[in-house]
Amino acid sequence: MKTIPELSDWALELIRLASTRLPADIRESLAKGRASEVENSPAAATLGTILENIDLAEKLSTPICQDTGTPVFYVQHPWDFPAAQFKAAFTEAVKVATTKNYLRPNAVDSITGKNSGDNTGDHFPAVYFEQWDREDEVRVDLMLKGGGSENTGAQYALPHAGLGAGRDLDGVRKVILDAVVNAQGKGCGPAVLAVCIGGDRSSGYALAKKQILRPLGDKNPDPVLAALEDEITEKANSLGIGPMGFGGMTTVLGTKITSAHRVPASFFVSIIYMCWAARKQAMIIRGGEVSYD
Ligand code: SF4
Repeated sequence: MKTIPELSDWALELIRLASTRLPADIRESLAKGRASEVENSPAAATLGTILENIDLAEKLSTPICQDTGTPVFYVQHPWDFPAAQFKAAFTEAVKVATTKNYLRPNAVDSITGKNSGDNTGDHFPAVYFEQWDREDEVRVDLMLKGGGSENTGAQYALPHAGLGAGRDLDGVRKVILDAVVNAQGKGCGPAVLAVCIGGDRSSGYALAKKQILRPLGDKNPDPVLAALEDEITEKANSLGIGPMGFGGMTTVLGTKITSAHRVPASFFVSIIYMCWAARKQAMIIRGGEVSYD
């Protein structure tokens, strides 16, 4: 695959769209949530304000939330692919996006506490590459993951005596719902829950986070996980936590679950909590042309 001179400009547009335009599935789910809440209730008012904010952000091309999060790029690419060029283009694009206020300066040196000022630093932005078998086509998914929602993610090692959660699907159910209860009033709900059952500590979180990229309306190809996703969403929405913890029925917009093999000694359940500002945007490069999805 040839190098692409316009790549950092294309990546800048990807960042602008991700920061200022919420995906249609999330927006529709928030609107559905508002319609389901009691009229004039704090839940309905909160969702109304969130929806108004989303519309204004898109209209004015300004960030949906002040915390523009960690930029996480997922790249799927053919075998002959200039990875270094893509990584450099993303770095350049986040710098320019910061000067244009599409991104808040968010990269802080963990040792000195100094903010780099341009959203770049060690492992920042995060970039993950995965080869696929398509030729001359690259897909880049960008997620902007806010800190408040990231703080409420959780990883459980089963069995969990305190919750009475064993190494089975019932145990998995218990710990996911416990994570939802612990997140109330934090992390700006309603949320999308992304879960990995199994794996090790690092792969569990990584696989869970990628589930955020799935459209809300898709169906898990595994019927057991599909049923579990629906059940968790329904149960979470019966807890009465509601948007921003103000009470109501809209606690979770959707649940996405995957699984990974594990060693016999470990059974992790990794849960990523994505706030209502579930910013994600895809860029597809095919035949030298770019499009955004
Ligand atoms: S949790 Fe989400 S909506 Fe809340 S401040 Fe952070 S990024 Fe913004």
